[in-house]
Amino acid sequence: MKIFVYSNSNEESLKIKEELQERLTNQHEFSDKLDYSIQLVICIGGDGTFLRFLNAYDFPYVPILGINTGHLGFYQDFTYESLCKAIENFEHDNYSLQKLNPIRIQIKSSRGTEVKHSLNEVTIKAFGNYPLHLNVALDGQNVERFNGDGLLISSSAGSTAYNYSLGGSIVDPRLKLIQVSPIAPLNSTAYRSFTSSIVLPWDMTLSIKPELHKHQEKINIFYDGFTETYDDLEEISIRLSNSEVHLVRKGDYDFWTKAKEKFL
Ligand code: NAD
Repeated sequence: MKIFVYSNSNEESLKIKEELQERLTNQHEFSDKLDYSIQLVICIGGDGTFLRFLNAYDFPYVPILGINTGHLGFYQDFTYESLCKAIENFEHDNYSLQKLNPIRIQIKSSRGTEVKHSLNEVTIKAFGNYPLHLNVALDGQNVERFNGDGLLISSSAGSTAYNYSLGGSIVDPRLKLIQVSPIAPLNSTAYRSFTSSIVLPWDMTLSIKPELHKHQEKINIFYDGFTETYDDLEEISIRLSNSEVHLVRKGDYDFWTKAKEKFL
């Protein structure tokens, strides 16, 4: 089998990467390049490493098996000790594959139109400490003029991350949807915004047009662990991507067991 290994730069992860290649070099071919011949990616680190891998390699379709050297590791199911068995199981089709849809983010500014993807979420916030006015439309229909710190749009997979810290719901990743959570919404007789998260079907497009005032020209867009700052943002369109991330899970993987381990 042809394998590509991605690791963070922690001492422990790098040691595992080296040992892994030494241990399995007679049975498998390790490549430095992620191309279409690769049959399995092994990702060593924590959830952040997994998110960085996806971003660096443009959300590849190849199955990804995560070895956790971080804390709980929501995406990383395996330990170094269980790896050989996991690879053997993978070769014999004895594994479960979790298919996750990232979020597609189209950003229109004076730079042109860019498209980004994020597995967990995208967050739109002011650059400084002032409320942001955002005109929100669903499939072209105006819904609210949001006023507050910002909005977070999460995938089902990302529902247990920043979304959950904001009081959003935990969503079973088998459900294809996007969840929009307000960050400190301002509600008064002048402004009305939803104060809870709203849940949208997978095929709906959410568009956000900021109203920029002179003193607050910049907006931050955070997607997974990355940040972009814009002073010329015109519109952001967000929907669930048709592409899929294929994550190798243990045969007995159960999302709610993992959620219980992390939160209860
Ligand atoms: P980080 O190292 O600061 O890690 C943030 C934490 O989020 C880690 O404990 C990680 O395990 C956890 N995490 C990431 N994805 C998860 C998921 N799908 N379900 C449950 N937990 C998850 O930063 P990082 O590792 O680069 O991760 C980036 C993520 O950090 C962002 O996608 C965002 O969700 C999260 N974040 C959370 C908050 C918050 O909860 N207040 C604030 C900013 C960012």
